Amino acid sequence: MKFSEFKYVRPDLDLIKSQYKDLTEKLISAKSAAEQLEIVKTFNKIADEVDSTFQIVYIKNSIDTTDEFIQKEQEFLDEAMPELQEYSVEFTKALNKSPFKAELEKSLGSLIFKQNELKEKTFKAEIIPLLQEQNKLVSAYGKLSASAQIEFEDQVYNLSQMRKFSSSTDRATRKNAAAAVSAWYQAHEAEFDDLYDKMVKVRQDIAVGLGFENYIQVAYYNMGRLDYNQADVKKFREQILSEVVPFVQNELMPRRAKRLGIKELKSYDLGLTFLNGNPTPKGDRAWAVNQAIEMYDEMSPETSKFFRMLVDRELLDLDAKKGKMGGGYCTYIPQYEAPFIFANFNGTADDVDVLTHEAGHAFQVYTSRNNLPELRWPTAEGAEIHSMSMEFLAWRWIDKFFKEDTNKYKFSHLADGVEILCWIALVDHYQHEVYQNPSMSPTERKATWRKLEKQYQPWKVFEDDPFLESGAFWFRQGHIFEVPFYYIDYGLAQTIAFQFWVMSRNDFADAWNKYYKLCQIGGAMSFVELLTKNGLDTPFTEGSLKKVMDPIKAYLQSIDDSKF
Ligand code: ZN
Repeated sequence: MKFSEFKYVRPDLDLIKSQYKDLTEKLISAKSAAEQLEIVKTFNKIADEVDSTFQIVYIKNSIDTTDEFIQKEQEFLDEAMPELQEYSVEFTKALNKSPFKAELEKSLGSLIFKQNELKEKTFKAEIIPLLQEQNKLVSAYGKLSASAQIEFEDQVYNLSQMRKFSSSTDRATRKNAAAAVSAWYQAHEAEFDDLYDKMVKVRQDIAVGLGFENYIQVAYYNMGRLDYNQADVKKFREQILSEVVPFVQNELMPRRAKRLGIKELKSYDLGLTFLNGNPTPKGDRAWAVNQAIEMYDEMSPETSKFFRMLVDRELLDLDAKKGKMGGGYCTYIPQYEAPFIFANFNGTADDVDVLTHEAGHAFQVYTSRNNLPELRWPTAEGAEIHSMSMEFLAWRWIDKFFKEDTNKYKFSHLADGVEILCWIALVDHYQHEVYQNPSMSPTERKATWRKLEKQYQPWKVFEDDPFLESGAFWFRQGHIFEVPFYYIDYGLAQTIAFQFWVMSRNDFADAWNKYYKLCQIGGAMSFVELLTKNGLDTPFTEGSLKKVMDPIKAYLQSIDDSKF
């Protein structure tokens, strides 16, 4: 069935609530594991139907925000979902208390029960007001950032519009743009400091309310991190410090300076990679989709069938249109076994990323669609493995999109992936310091940031900018405010994707088989388990990063970028 034929009927809330309640009671009084499994099946079927109506409305609303009917249904569902959640949580709680748990685990696996335990550890009715306070602060951060009106060259721009000036090929424009952006943040310094200070304090209160010493472990549990801890993440950051930072400092940055024709790189130069512009796809949306069809046809029988299905069933909405929301995502409609990819094509390399990265997410969820609903998607660091690795598996065919820019694309794809690890580790290390010492003052926090910034990004030289020199660059990274400790997930997944890059160059068929197996598992394993049971190195093991960085360094060194 095509997306345009998917039916939306407003769900009958009272009916669903009574069904959930009824099933919870039946679950509690069931006399055997077999009986309980049947009840779980019925519950999941209803949950999938509810989720499907929500996904359909969400997608339609993001495609056309001016459709009044859909707008109303979206508002209705936004209200309804938390109400239903109350009932579904009761069901999960009852399931976790089952006297037949050991037997249930044989069919459902143990992961679901472990995840539910984490959910219980991080929630108590008493912390609800603190969670609401946190949500308010998070919204206030979003509003403050979105309110930016920056005067530049006689016009007014928001922060994302300023990006085209920060990456201008004219150095004076870059410098002035960076100064204008920095001045806006400085003008709002007290507001950012105050918001963050309140966030740290409310999160500390949440942690104490739940019986934890500080917020770090609460955040780890919130993200479903079952089989690694702070010490493991620290080991990962240390590998970035020893393997990646010196390479970026001594090799990638000097080469970039040379390409840009600059003697000494300043922080305002970092928005630009190539003097003659970034690599771009050589055709429009329809053309790019055709190239993707060819690519997935050649990659494997599974991807061929899958991608043609997406196109035939209209499960891609790629053109930027009036009234359409910004950004991009991949989601899944269980009732129709339909992944959906939403994007706003703009003629940059990002368009190709949609057809590789988002298609990787879509392929994974489609491949593991028969999993229990909770186990279709992995936790975030696991989910990004499928998408980021697909970006590298696509390298074999990437000339179909980039033609004469192919080598330039490959170089920047890999070099950017390496460089960003330093930023990710910095953001992560900073947050550990902040929540470990929740009573730090805003000034002390900034000093901590600047100290770490010099360690992880020694190439960042601020010129005539005492504000950034004081340690305020992190104001612009939303994750630090909105979802503490989440950001490292991209770095963890990136290093696994690097392993796929190495494997696919040595033996593509072997890499593909491993990748396909991971997709079939979907969310049925926790992060470390997923890696160790599938012959992949965990990023926490000493030496694992060096193993992938050695061939990556050799590759980047072999590329002549002087002509880019
Ligand atoms: Zn992703």
